Amino acid sequence: MTAQLHDGKAGPISRKPHVAVGDDKRARNPHLKLEIDLGTVRHNVEAITKTAGVPVLPVVKADAYGLGMEAICETIADLAAGFCVFQAREAIAVNLAGRTGKRVLALGPPESSDPSDYIAHGITPTVCNPQQARQLRRAHPALCVDTGMQRFSCPPVDCREAIIAGNCHETFTHATQLSHVEKLKDVTCGFDLLRHAAASSLLHDAGAVLDAVRPGLAMYRNAVGVSSRIVEIHNSGSPAGYSGFTAQRHGIILAGYSHGLRKGPCLINGRKSRLLEVGMQSAFVELDPGDHVGDSVVLLSKDLTEIAISLCWNCSPHEVLTSMSSAATRRYIY
Ligand SMILES: *Cc1c(COP(=O)(O)O)cnc(C)c1O
Repeated sequence: MTAQLHDGKAGPISRKPHVAVGDDKRARNPHLKLEIDLGTVRHNVEAITKTAGVPVLPVVKADAYGLGMEAICETIADLAAGFCVFQAREAIAVNLAGRTGKRVLALGPPESSDPSDYIAHGITPTVCNPQQARQLRRAHPALCVDTGMQRFSCPPVDCREAIIAGNCHETFTHATQLSHVEKLKDVTCGFDLLRHAAASSLLHDAGAVLDAVRPGLAMYRNAVGVSSRIVEIHNSGSPAGYSGFTAQRHGIILAGYSHGLRKGPCLINGRKSRLLEVGMQSAFVELDPGDHVGDSVVLLSKDLTEIAISLCWNCSPHEVLTSMSSAATRRYIY
């Protein structure tokens, strides 16, 4: 490997990923449980395949949104046409192509200018300009077209040159609306290419489906539960916590903002409740008279989805999922 890397530092693509992947050595909070239902993930991918009617390229970047790339990929490998990561090193770290027998598309900007670095690992790099396309020609790079995202993608005016320079067989855009999909088709028309544009938000738009789809979040819908348990209860009704909140009865859980939690909704004994205040490694929850020490506090589930939470947190559902999954102790069920 004699590659030049463009991730800030020069050096070869190493097996050391800079996002948590593989055997997951990061410190995890034993009081915060992350339950991943692989059967539901599989069911979701089957449903997406059926609706879209084209090959599916599951997006498993960032350790499958914190759910564990290896377990997720092994569960759905037979349903996938290939896998998408952000950086090649994420796939190399777990030998993704070798292990699943599927090709891998690295969606982000190239980490190496040496095509061998990609070919050796069954990875298709993505290029964003004619120069990168020329350098990586032997690896048959995919061209990412800028249709509005304005982020590591090729300006429309340079696309024809890049497709020819890279001998590209594939092109895509990160579409957030149908007009972006139309633009991809316009900009690349006349070339024989595999085209894809739809991520989760456009999966149900027939006009966005093209030759393949790239779902991320949609694969994990209803498949993830995050919870903790009440370890302490107080009934004072007097101002409490850093903020001096008052509640007739409150409980404590041993998970806080260092584990990705924020003030917002939760479910206790099937009832909607809330985190009153979040500290670094613990949080206060509002309780009813019937709640007890040891009762479960559900922070994410089928009944309290990442979409509902994202509205309270004022962020994207992706951010809720990756935040909640980042430090919780994983358990897989099927
Ligand atoms: C992350 C990503 C996706 C998947 O997005 P979701 O909204 O999670 O489905 C698809 N395409 C590209 C280029 C991405 O970066």
